[in-house]
Amino acid sequence: MEGFDLSRLVSPGESEEDRVLGLSLRPDCLDEFIGQRQVVENLKIGISAAKQRGEVIEHILLSGPPGLGKTTLAHIIAKEMGAHMISTSGPALERPGDLVGILTNLESGDVLFIDEIHRLPRIVEEFLYPAIESFKIDFVIDKGPYAKTIKFNLKPFTLIGATTRSGLLSAPMRSRFGFFYHLEFYEPEDLVKIILRSANVLDVEITEKGALEIARRSRGTPRIANRLLRRVRDYAQVKADGKIDRDVADMALHSLGIDDLGLDELDRKLLRTIIEVYKGGPVGIESLSATLNEEVDTLIDVVEPYLLKACLLKRTPRGREATELAYRHILGRDKEREEGLF
Ligand code: ADP
Repeated sequence: MEGFDLSRLVSPGESEEDRVLGLSLRPDCLDEFIGQRQVVENLKIGISAAKQRGEVIEHILLSGPPGLGKTTLAHIIAKEMGAHMISTSGPALERPGDLVGILTNLESGDVLFIDEIHRLPRIVEEFLYPAIESFKIDFVIDKGPYAKTIKFNLKPFTLIGATTRSGLLSAPMRSRFGFFYHLEFYEPEDLVKIILRSANVLDVEITEKGALEIARRSRGTPRIANRLLRRVRDYAQVKADGKIDRDVADMALHSLGIDDLGLDELDRKLLRTIIEVYKGGPVGIESLSATLNEEVDTLIDVVEPYLLKACLLKRTPRGREATELAYRHILGRDKEREEGLF
């Protein structure tokens, strides 16, 4: 449809629009952070205890699918500790030298946030060990016979690592974190609260039922909920005097190709491929990636987690399998299409 971005709308990856608007929608203290109760409670205790002792908080690893709030939580932790946060990411740090400047400039209590920490090159990871264990680094200057090792004492800081795949993190890296929190997909009622809060920030008129309709179809992910809210707002503005109720949300989401379960074209294509090309599976992820012409990492990080959680996909030692629910959903849509329902 003209005026609507039909690129992967329910992808939890961050677009430029998400980044810019996400900043204004981002909660900035633990009390405003909706959902993930267990994680939030434990963090509150950890932060209070560290503050009472006048120490920096131990290193924290946050894991979970993209768009669930790992970066947001890192910002909040830094803020609640009254610290500065310096952000970087695994792929951006190619050599130990890339970290020297960052580490030596950290002030006492600062937070170093490394996104996608599982993608840190091994040589950078090993350079980081003494820094996070005893706040010391050794770096080598010059080459050959003139090479010299310089020892440098760092100020105590907190490393917050975020990862979509904690399984890929090496055991020595993992063991250096004092806290390990896994973020789960959000329940619709928490997403409703997030959508109502965002609608308020964006000054959009929305009913509770309208918010629930968007929440149900947001793959349990706040970033997607906020993105769908913005697209539904566009639709409501053009077609419905700007007000979002259940029917407007439903029509807008349908027109964007997002079905009742919140699946988009790529989700359905993956399930359909398993059902039609591989007779329901099991099929290896490499074969699926080749048939779909999508990166293995995209399928594993972005597409599969929600399909697994929604019981549409099964991961077995022999490969991926479509569940009975997936058959019903995909074949049900085919039937509706034949009957001309959409
Ligand atoms: P991640 O780092 O896990 O990919 P982000 O922290 O970037 O995810 O979160 C994506 C967006 O979702 C943020 O811009 C924020 O607005 C929103 N968000 C995430 N978690 C919450 C939450 N619990 N409450 C409100 N908004 C949230």
